[in-house]
Amino acid sequence: MRAMVLRRVGEPLVMERRPDPEPGPGQVLLDVAACAVCRTDLHVCDGDLPDVPVPVIPGHEIVGRVVATGAGVNIAAGTRLGVPWLGHTCGQCRYCRDGNENLCDNARFTGYQIDGGYATAVLADHRYAFPIPDEYSDIEAAPLLCAGLIGYRSLVMAGDARRLGIYGFGAAAHIVAQVAVHQAREVYAFTRAGDEAAQRFAMRLGAVWAGPSTEWPEVELDAAILFAPVGALVPAALRAVRKGGIVVCGGIHMSDIPAFPYEILWGERQVRSVANLTRRDAVEFLELAPQVPVRTHVESFPLDQANSALNRLREGRLEGAAVLRP
Ligand SMILES: [Zn+2]
Ligand SMILES: [Zn+2]
Repeated sequence: MRAMVLRRVGEPLVMERRPDPEPGPGQVLLDVAACAVCRTDLHVCDGDLPDVPVPVIPGHEIVGRVVATGAGVNIAAGTRLGVPWLGHTCGQCRYCRDGNENLCDNARFTGYQIDGGYATAVLADHRYAFPIPDEYSDIEAAPLLCAGLIGYRSLVMAGDARRLGIYGFGAAAHIVAQVAVHQAREVYAFTRAGDEAAQRFAMRLGAVWAGPSTEWPEVELDAAILFAPVGALVPAALRAVRKGGIVVCGGIHMSDIPAFPYEILWGERQVRSVANLTRRDAVEFLELAPQVPVRTHVESFPLDQANSALNRLREGRLEGAAVLRP
């Protein structure tokens, strides 16, 4: 196999050749067809997340086909599966027992603690891999596996909000906006100042308003979802939501939130984060996506161009999602 490997945090990925791994009990070996690039990959590569166990292969939005299976796995060769961020849970801690496996004390994550999909082959625990709806090509399906799943979980956390703000209009937002419009919500898209391309993209996807995050639409929002990893947007979003409104922080990492007056939280407004995903989120969202139908906008890169794809994401110069092809 070939893989783009993070050897040292903060350094570019390096192409390596390795022998194909053997699937252990419960595992499948997948021939990778596509792997989308997530902002969390940047947080892994930059060391924003703690204890990155280098060397590691990033990538947790993987679409591949089964080529070999380990003991106890009854899945036919050639079956197409998607592998998301949640790679393992213990099943025993209080969170697992309460149905909150996304918060598992002993969880392990794909492309962080488990080698991921920036590669031509990957091992996955079959219990954490999901059939992909036939409506999607490999490349179109890849962004559903994190941008879609975490985006969907964030949207559920926003409750029944009719007027929904979305801050940061990248891969997750472009999927959530389509689901929200399908659910007859009004989407208000906030982008970086001057990013008119992202604002036009949001309007094309059905937003009723798009503008820089320094501006406010004429109306009060019922909820806001933050995908941009910028802490200063938390008070901005609190000012934009009505009394009782919810601000959902959808990212795994965010710069510090500046101090803000209690008055903008007052009125029973809530701030909450979304952490990881459960397998139930995956099943629900992969069933919903073709009904909307969610159409993903992707820009594909050859695997050996992973560093340029990451840089394009870092600079905010992507429309929709970047996807690597082996
Ligand atoms: Zn657990
Ligand atoms: Zn992700």
